[in-house]
Amino acid sequence: PRVTLLAGGVGGAKLAEGLAAVCAPERLSIIGNVADDHEFHGLWVSPDIDTLTYSLANLIDRQQGWGLADESHRVLKGLERLGCDTWMSLGDQDMATHIFRTQLRHQGIRPSTIAQSIADSLGVKVNMLLPTDDRLQTLVKTEQGWLAFQEYFVRERCQPEVREIRFEGADEARPTFEALEAIEQADVLLIAPSNPVVSIAPILAVPEIRRAVENSRATRIAVSPLIGGHTVKGPADRMLTAMGYRCSNAGVADSYAGLIDGLVIDEQDRADRAALEADGLQVLTTATLMTSAEEKTRLAQETLAFAGVCR
Ligand code: GDP
Ligand code: CA
Repeated sequence: PRVTLLAGGVGGAKLAEGLAAVCAPERLSIIGNVADDHEFHGLWVSPDIDTLTYSLANLIDRQQGWGLADESHRVLKGLERLGCDTWMSLGDQDMATHIFRTQLRHQGIRPSTIAQSIADSLGVKVNMLLPTDDRLQTLVKTEQGWLAFQEYFVRERCQPEVREIRFEGADEARPTFEALEAIEQADVLLIAPSNPVVSIAPILAVPEIRRAVENSRATRIAVSPLIGGHTVKGPADRMLTAMGYRCSNAGVADSYAGLIDGLVIDEQDRADRAALEADGLQVLTTATLMTSAEEKTRLAQETLAFAGVCR
């Protein structure tokens, strides 16, 4: 089958790795989030795409879940000495990715071509796709006013209360041909256990991407990022609440209303099953915490088998 995954960063990369272990690479497409992108020191940084690519290349720092393994930070130290703001931790080898990306962008090469080229160079065999080549930026409104996503997430460590979230550029954003095709031709369309509000929603905020998911003939399954009503890591639980959703699997399902046929939830949350089914969703209850490679592969396998059942 052709499998297409919508994914954010760390949570998305875990399921992506599991899928890469069980799918033929040419039949696996991953559409990553670009709305977290940010310019640092004149360089275009694309954190979620890099997390996906580094994970699939097995170059990721496994302890952190992001950045490259065996990294040093000498360039950042040099920038600090020059008086630059260095709250975004960018490693020396990681900088090479950003230099390369920025250089190609300046040459007018499509961001999605650049992302696939980086993936190819690092030995990633799957299709690494971007939802759009246009500018799309998540902005978070806090008591300090509107912050760029990385300012909220990294500089402010997700501490300020979130009042509003906006995806600047979404209404005008055109989908990439590759992402549309991957959605239209998918047999199974998966949504990773990523932050629904700031990792998946910006992908779906591209109007034609959303329409393609709505109209897809694929079996559409999301894996919940919540376990026991909490995130494994990060602010998705608080953000769901801030956006008016319940902080539960029901809230995750509501955020994907009209876009999914089934939801994979953790066995700890088996009590949520009946209500989700009453709302017309198919539900798979299993262990969804992915720590080891085996757990990633097993969840990917079970989710694909479940998609077969859902058809
Ligand atoms: P980011 O872009 O790096 O912030 O990462 P994502 O948006 O892709 O993923 C963040 C979400 O992944 C959080 O809400 C976590 O709860 C969820 N997550 C992380 N690891 C796991 C896991 O092993 N299992 C499940 N079910 N969710 C996870
Ligand atoms: Ca992210």
